[in-house]
Order: sequence, then C-alpha cells, then structure tokens
Amino acid sequence: MYQHIIFDRDGTINDGSHYYVTKVEEITLLPKVKDTLTALNNKGVKLYIFTQQSCIGKGELTEEGLANIHNKMHELLGGDLFVDVVHCPHTEADACACRKPKTGMLDILAKKYQMTAENTLVVGDAERDYLAAKEKGFDFCLVKTGKGQDTANKIAQEVRFVTDDLEGLLDIYK
Ligand SMILES: [Mg+2]
Ligand SMILES: [Zn+2]
Repeated sequence: MYQHIIFDRDGTINDGSHYYVTKVEEITLLPKVKDTLTALNNKGVKLYIFTQQSCIGKGELTEEGLANIHNKMHELLGGDLFVDVVHCPHTEADACACRKPKTGMLDILAKKYQMTAENTLVVGDAERDYLAAKEKGFDFCLVKTGKGQDTANKIAQEVRFVTDDLEGLLDIYK
C-alpha cells in the first residue's frame, strides 16, 4: 500500500478553495482532517503537501507569511504531521515548471523521498491536482471537499479513488 501520500492543501486539508489564505487566522481545518492525518501518521504513512500559492507571486502574501500560516496549520493538527510542504509561489505568467498541472513539485518530492508509482498516492480536490499526478504516473484520490464535487462531475470516472471527505482514505488502508 502507499507509503507516501501527497496532499493538495486548499480545499483538501483546509477550507479555502475559493479564496486565498493570506492571514494566519484564515486557516481552518476541514472536518475529520486532523483525525485522519493522525491515524495515517500512526500507521507509518509519510505525509506531504504540494500547494499552489500564486498569492505570493501576486504580492498578496510573503514567504514569511506563508511559513506562519503553515506553523498555524501544524498547531491546529496537534503536531507537525507533514514530512515536507512544498509550494509554487508563481503566477501563470511566470510559466514556471512547478505550477500545477505541471509536475515540478511532485518531481522535487519524488526525488528527495524515493517515491515511485507503486508507493505514492496524490490527494486533491481539483482537476489540476489530478493532471499533475497523472503526468507523474502517481495514483490519485479525488476528495469531494473544496471544489471536489464539481471536479467529480468531470473526472470521477478516470481517477483511482473518489471519497466524500478525507476520512475515506482510511478505507484504502483496511
Ligand atoms: Mg485545492
Ligand atoms: Zn511555480
């Protein structure tokens, strides 16, 4: 089973698929996220985040501000459950290699942590999360939080797993 799970952040871990989280107080965990991530962590599964934060490229958030937001996220989770959190700060105009659906962030994690198509699952609420995972050859779980319901209407047939909320991930490990 998957030893590594890479999560999208906004709409998957926290609310905020429809707006930029630019203040510490704006980060709130979605229901069941804390218990699910804790349970996975206790099973020895390694957890990561890959998140697009173009609000940095647009000047609405600083790198330091993002670090503070992630510290708050860890506090809400009751500990640092993530081995690594990578982000793309660019805007579309930057034409970078890391903005989803490009695979730059997955490439960094895969190389650093010996991830393979067999041992890694990507979880997210948006089509671009799926497309990045697919391009990299990783299985994908669509979670119907955030934009996930709309995304399911488009790609539910194509993806490996679909779950109503993050807790559904635990079924994969039964
Ligand atoms: Mg998202
Ligand atoms: Zn980028």
